Amino acid sequence: MKIFNWILKRLGTIIGGSILGIGMIFFGIVLLFIPVIGWLFGIIFIFMGIMMPIMAGIMGPATAGRCPRCNHRIVFKPMEKGTTCFTCHRRVLNTMNGFELA
Ligand SMILES: [Zn+2]
Repeated sequence: MKIFNWILKRLGTIIGGSILGIGMIFFGIVLLFIPVIGWLFGIIFIFMGIMMPIMAGIMGPATAGRCPRCNHRIVFKPMEKGTTCFTCHRRVLNTMNGFELA
């Protein structure tokens, strides 16, 4: 089940984003004790903390794998549909079925 694996991968990022988000919210609350500058940055941190799991869920994880042509290690950034292999300079697409040459 490819779609199930895809959701599971994303779930990990959402949980990771939530942990990071909770940390940022706590940091934001601490900042609120500092007048004026703390209030400004505290609110920004709390807002970013709330947004973090949502952003992580939308963006998804960075995936690493091997180039289908030359077997060299390639990394896809989050949201990146395709990348160019550094070794053989071929365009590689990150599809739900795995890595495919463009
Ligand atoms: Zn390659």
